[in-house]
Amino acid sequence: MKPRLYLVSRNAGKLREIEQILAPYAIEVESIYDRYPLGEIEESGGSYAENALLKARRGFAVTRHPCVGEDSGLEIDALGGAPGIYSARFGGAHLPFPAKMEEILKRLEHVPLRERSARFRCVVALVWEGGEKLFEGVCEGFIAETPQGEEGFGYDPIFVYPPFQKTFAQLGPAIKNRYSHRAQAFRQCAKFIRETF
Ligand code: IMP
Repeated sequence: MKPRLYLVSRNAGKLREIEQILAPYAIEVESIYDRYPLGEIEESGGSYAENALLKARRGFAVTRHPCVGEDSGLEIDALGGAPGIYSARFGGAHLPFPAKMEEILKRLEHVPLRERSARFRCVVALVWEGGEKLFEGVCEGFIAETPQGEEGFGYDPIFVYPPFQKTFAQLGPAIKNRYSHRAQAFRQCAKFIRETF
């Protein structure tokens, strides 16, 4: 039987990517919110790992079924690592992404390309009846001077992936889901599930 996981997230962009990343491992993933009336989970942790664990533990407590929580963010060196764990809330939780990106580009206005290094980080927490485990993926790149591309979600239009010199939003899911922070973290998680469950 195919292992099935609940993803403790409402983010449709993340779910789509995770489904595609896990498909070769024959692992199914479904949003917990499609089946359980789980309330909003506040990301009150002080790190990606704490936030990811918070979500996965809450999911497991409700379902008693393997759950994954994921926390991710964009770290920009010229901004001292911001927005980091506050990426979803940067400029206010309800500020749309085009405005969040505009604000970042404004703050980097006088920063030359060689100093615009940044990375996406993703931490995945898996909680099941046998225990808890964390997986991490990092994708290095830099911040573009203007948003480019239509695909993906969140900050994808301003994150340039250097091997292709294009933003994740220009590269699209086939490439992004091969190299991204999320792909790296979830592939480790998938291998662990295949070896352990
Ligand atoms: P959270 O993990 O739900 O707290 O949200 C992480 C936030 O980081 C997302 O809302 C996006 O703002 C940003 N982020 C994380 N991963 C990606 C990605 O792959 N592309 C674009 N933005 C991302």
